[in-house]
Amino acid sequence: PFVITSPCLHEKNAECTEVCPVDCIEEGDDMFHIDPNVCIDCGACEAVCPVDAIYTVEDVPDKEQKYIEVNQRFFQ
Ligand code: SF4
Repeated sequence: PFVITSPCLHEKNAECTEVCPVDCIEEGDDMFHIDPNVCIDCGACEAVCPVDAIYTVEDVPDKEQKYIEVNQRFFQ
């Protein structure tokens, strides 16, 4: 799946939610989150993110690793 990381904090741009074909991006208190069980890895959200906050789970930078769990937990 794709993962939304810290550049999204307080960004609230929401373009990603409009392009996701499976509607798996939801807004939390301070950022958006991707449901890893629903994401089909299409990459559409990554392409439109204005702050480059979205990575495939394999490419999440070291300092952003905790957001893998932050995205997961939001949907539990
Ligand atoms: Fe949605 Fe595609 Fe982004 Fe996954 S990669 S969250 S399916 S837009």
